[in-house]
Amino acid sequence: PQAPVTPLPGSVSASSATVRSIRWGQQDFGLRVVLDLSAPVPLKVEPGSGSVTVTIPGLMARGTSGSVSPYPSEIGLSVTQFGDRVVLAFRHNASTVRHFSLEAPFRQVIDFYDPRPLGTSPAPYSPWTGPPEGSIVEEEPPEEVFQPLPQPEQPSERPPRGVRTVVIDAGHGGKDPGAVANGIKEKDINLRVARLMSDILKKEGMRVVLTRSTDVYLQLSQRTNIAVKEDADVFISLHCNALPKGKTAEGVEIYLMALPSDKHAMELALIENRELVEGGLESSEAADKRTRTLLKILGDMQQNVKIEESTSFAEILFRKGESKKLPMRRVAQAPFYVLRGAAMPSVLVEMGFLTNRAEAAKLKNPNYQKQIAEALSSGIVEFLKTSKYN
Ligand SMILES: [Zn+2]
Repeated sequence: PQAPVTPLPGSVSASSATVRSIRWGQQDFGLRVVLDLSAPVPLKVEPGSGSVTVTIPGLMARGTSGSVSPYPSEIGLSVTQFGDRVVLAFRHNASTVRHFSLEAPFRQVIDFYDPRPLGTSPAPYSPWTGPPEGSIVEEEPPEEVFQPLPQPEQPSERPPRGVRTVVIDAGHGGKDPGAVANGIKEKDINLRVARLMSDILKKEGMRVVLTRSTDVYLQLSQRTNIAVKEDADVFISLHCNALPKGKTAEGVEIYLMALPSDKHAMELALIENRELVEGGLESSEAADKRTRTLLKILGDMQQNVKIEESTSFAEILFRKGESKKLPMRRVAQAPFYVLRGAAMPSVLVEMGFLTNRAEAAKLKNPNYQKQIAEALSSGIVEFLKTSKYN
C-alpha cells in the first residue's frame, strides 16, 4: 500500500482523498463527528452561524456510511459533490463548534457543544442532555470513535458497468459459534451456504463478496461496512435459529431491519445482536442496550434503511423458497444490528432451527444446503432483474 503523503504547504490542489465514512458519537460535552479520509488533504472547515461547511478535495461515494445524521434534530448534514471537491454542510444548534484533525489514519474531528447554559435542569432525553439516569443510550463507547476502521486486505476491483454486486454475510464465525444444538454449530452451516451461493451467483455473472470465506470472527459493524465499501446492490446475512428448551418451530424466516413485528422477532434480534467480548459472549444487558439504541435510531431513520426495497427483496426470497419446496415460515421485521447502516436492500435469513432435531439433520445435509443456496440465489437474481429501484 502507498504511504500517505503529507501535503506540502501551498500544494493545495495537488492531493485528493476519499471520505471513507462519517462517524457520530455522543461525548460528555455534546456530539462528535469524525470524518475518516483515505489520505491527508488540505481541507477547509468554515464555521458560520448555525452551520459548519467542510470542503474536501476528493470524493465521497453515494451510500458512504454515516452520511445521514443519526441526530437530525441536533445536526443536519447535506453532502454535495462539486467536481473534484466534496462539500459537507452541517446545520446545527450547538453553542460552540471546535474542530481539529488527527494523523495516521487522517481524520477530521468536529465537536458540537451542548447549547444549554450551564446549570440548566435536565430536559427529557436528547443527545444534548445525555442519557437519563439508569439507562444507557450511547451507541458506542466514546473511545471507539478514534479506532481506525478495519481495511479490506486488498482493495477489490470495481465491477464493470451493469455488473451487480452481492455481499453475503455468513453470520458468526471464529470464536463465536452462534447457536449450537444437536451437534451443529450455526457458524459452519452459515459459511457453507454462503460459499454455495457465491458459486451459483458468480455463474450468473454477478460479483460476489463474502464478509468471511473462512472460520474467522468479525464484529457486526465490520460486516455492514464491507457491504457499504463494496457498494453492494444487495446485502444478505445468513443465520440459523434456536429456541429455548420446551419450544419448537420449523422453517425459514426472512427478516428485514425495522421496528420489530412482534415479541418473537424482538427476542431473536436480542440474541443475534450479542457480540463477543474478551472472555466470552457479552452480557445480555449489553446487547439489550445496543438493540434499544437501534430502536431509537430506527425511529429517526425510518426513511434511510431502504425498508420498501428490503420488503420487496424479502418477499421475492420468500416466494422463491416456496417454489423450491423449502419450509418457508414467515417474513418479519426486527432491529438487527448487522443490517444497521446498510445503504442497500438488505435482509437477514434464519435458515432453520438447529434446536429442532429433524431440521438440524436437514441443515447438516449438503443437498439441503444446496437447495437453500439455490432458492436464495435465484431470489437475488430475480430481485436484481425486476427491481424497480434499478
Ligand atoms: Zn445467528
